[in-house]
Amino acid sequence: MEIYLDNAATTRPYPSVVQAVAESMEHVYGNPSSLHKIGLEAELLVTEQRKTIAEGLGCEPECILFTSGATESNNLALRGAAAVYGKRKPHIVVSAVEHASVSNTLDALEAQGFRVTRVLPDSEGRFTSKEFLQAITEDTCLISMMAYENETGHRLPVSSVFTTLRKRYPHIIRHCDFVQGFMKDPTTVDLLAADLLSVSAHKIHGPKGIGALYVRKGIRLQPILTGGKQEKTIRPGTEAVPLIAGFGEAVRQHENKLYDLGKRTERCYTALESRLREMDGITINRFMEGTAYILNFSVQGIRSETMLHFLESKGIYVSSGSACAKGARSHVLSAYGISNDRADSALRVSFSGENTVEEVIALTEAVAQGQRQLIHK
Ligand code: PMP
Repeated sequence: MEIYLDNAATTRPYPSVVQAVAESMEHVYGNPSSLHKIGLEAELLVTEQRKTIAEGLGCEPECILFTSGATESNNLALRGAAAVYGKRKPHIVVSAVEHASVSNTLDALEAQGFRVTRVLPDSEGRFTSKEFLQAITEDTCLISMMAYENETGHRLPVSSVFTTLRKRYPHIIRHCDFVQGFMKDPTTVDLLAADLLSVSAHKIHGPKGIGALYVRKGIRLQPILTGGKQEKTIRPGTEAVPLIAGFGEAVRQHENKLYDLGKRTERCYTALESRLREMDGITINRFMEGTAYILNFSVQGIRSETMLHFLESKGIYVSSGSACAKGARSHVLSAYGISNDRADSALRVSFSGENTVEEVIALTEAVAQGQRQLIHK
């Protein structure tokens, strides 16, 4: 038995994605920059997929740059925009619960002389627009907010903050890490009022090592890499044609299914939440509205890793916080004011459209069994 409930870390590629990658490796092996027919075929493939991804975000294909994943998209967005727009306005606003690829990048920018304000949730663990807008100063050049926080699934008020900023301070560049919302939340870059937005293929059953950055027309970025003229010279390097083929296919598999996938996930979320609420010693780590794709809870008295491996022995795979944190205590849970004990016993369950309520029941039974067996050890 294998019950995979770690879809916020990564997802299993769809068979059609694997096929698209393999077929492109076999048949579309040209360099998209080559002038001959074989190169042209590869270029056409890239152009087609760029269109597909743009449709997924409701934007023009010209605004999509392919990257090696959201870590790179976030780095390019933040470093690239800070370098262009931050010379005279060296202040950046960010939420305190960002993924390491944003928070560590901002630490690096801070070390270079930028001033960074990390916005915390209120005393009840909730983010409202107010805290972000209050953090804006005369010399703010950039704001970065994730749409869905990847450990608890909370939804941050990106669209309301960004829409207000667009009106009041249009010169401030607005970046959104949209990794956990892409092809789940049917919003668009315009509804979010984002200038820059990062997505990744492997969270939606696509290949690992490929992502994209949306760059609104007119926004300038200083490249991180220097090289050829690919991706408008902002992201040089031969395009990862097979991965791009797989990325496009993953997006197509989600198109027109967002509602159904969301409904299935909601059923799993509701089933898990209601069962957990009936159990003793469990606290659900959710303080505001969020996605049904992620549910974080703490099991009193049992360390995350201990329960994670117990569940693994039953063929159930969950996560202890974010996969990128690799066992370190989560800065995200601390930011919500969660105690160390509760953070150290947190588990993250994350769904995909492939999960079922039966799997959720098996999970809760295994957690209950774990509580009986592990708690006195
Ligand atoms: N941002 C968020 C919110 C994420 O969940 C992740 C993946 N853990 C990333 C960025 C990084 O994405 P990638 O693995 O494509 O570099």
